[in-house]
Amino acid sequence: MFSDDVRCLVVVGAQWGDEGKGKVVDVLAEQATIVARYQGGANAGHTVRVGEDEFILHLIPSGILYPEARCLLGNGVVIDPWTLAKEMAGLRERGIDLDGRIGISRRAHLVLPYHRTLDAAQERSRGSAKIGTTGRGIGPTYRDKIARTGLRVGDLKDLKRTRTIVSDGANRANVVLRGLKDEARVECDAVMSSIEEVRSMMLDLCADTGDEIRAELGVGGRVLLEGAQGAMLDVDHGTYPFVTSSTTTAGGAAVGVGIGPTAIDEVLGVVKAYITRVGAGPLPTELPEKEAERLRQLGGEFGATTGRPRRPGWFDGPVARYASGVNGLTALAITKLDVLDTFDAVKIATGYELDGAPVGAFPDSVEDLGAVVPVYETCSGWNADTTGCRTMGELPTAARQYLGRLEEASGTPIRIVGVGAARGATIRVSDAGIAAA
Ligand code: GDP
Repeated sequence: MFSDDVRCLVVVGAQWGDEGKGKVVDVLAEQATIVARYQGGANAGHTVRVGEDEFILHLIPSGILYPEARCLLGNGVVIDPWTLAKEMAGLRERGIDLDGRIGISRRAHLVLPYHRTLDAAQERSRGSAKIGTTGRGIGPTYRDKIARTGLRVGDLKDLKRTRTIVSDGANRANVVLRGLKDEARVECDAVMSSIEEVRSMMLDLCADTGDEIRAELGVGGRVLLEGAQGAMLDVDHGTYPFVTSSTTTAGGAAVGVGIGPTAIDEVLGVVKAYITRVGAGPLPTELPEKEAERLRQLGGEFGATTGRPRRPGWFDGPVARYASGVNGLTALAITKLDVLDTFDAVKIATGYELDGAPVGAFPDSVEDLGAVVPVYETCSGWNADTTGCRTMGELPTAARQYLGRLEEASGTPIRIVGVGAARGATIRVSDAGIAAA
């Protein structure tokens, strides 16, 4: 995907997250000199398998598994310093050299203990109307950021300033907790002593990540911008309010690391060969429970961060087309094709209907999306093991035909196909495309 013409590449999830971005980023990171996260926080969970080892990364970009790549957390990321410390310790224990390889933006906001307390209390108070947040404090941290009351990494160098921000934040949190009739309370001193544990580590990691990326592109380096969650969870373009609190789509990559949109050469959207979502909200192609459980077991569809079972469905063409539009996708990576290996037939939603009439533009409210009826096309299954295939030509004809239909349904050329969790279980599609195989 990287080439002389493609030096800044964004990888985004083009469904509801959990598309297998971690592995795709890992495969592409081999050629990157910098891998950077631009939004979200430790609510993301990428799983990367290297040989027999499995790495679950919540904050640190998957590029860390290559010894050369520098890994950055841009200004758009919200950083839980204790999670970061744990993740770094875990990687070091497993022999990964981190020295000089991680940089965090001074402009990035910190997730503090009271953000987590608020997240959990607010979700509890929603009762049956839960959003399905991961309870990691991400939403409340972004709320503080937008309200201009957050604590940024760079603030840590000034303890007095840090205490003022934390004390105000703790007071506000307690007002909210009392309002929710929640018993939890926050103490400024306790938060400050927790901050003391991580302060010097955070200051040591500080970098001007935007400058660094711009400079790297200026000298011909290769920069991979790694999205978390997916387009349908974008705070503007997703299924609001069942969304995450950040801009997950490709435009957010420029803002979230500090480059201009014109610096981005390519946007790769990652989709599963089917679809899943976790948490509440509409999912038009959701499978009935018996079939859902089969796909869930075959695909290991349980959250990397929370272990929650995901809700599986058939590939949703309208979602893929919409995600392609709002991200400006230039290519698609299809993951987990192998999970469908044992199905006699596989379905694709090629459109939606509402009250018997075709739906044109993608619905912009959850009520409308919840009411649509998918129009399905049934493709024959291939009933063969694809995990050993490494070229398009080795895939069964029916699997190739299915991929061709996914390409048409999403209106975006497929460039990568995943047929297993391992790094090597990847097929590169030549520029000639699927049909040429
Ligand atoms: P992410 O957040 O988008 O990276 O998604 P996850 O971490 O939930 O990754 C999905 C899971 O699928 C991980 O366990 C991966 O190892 C696995 N995975 C990724 N690509 C493939 C694939 O092509 N086939 C199979 N069977 N598993 C895959």
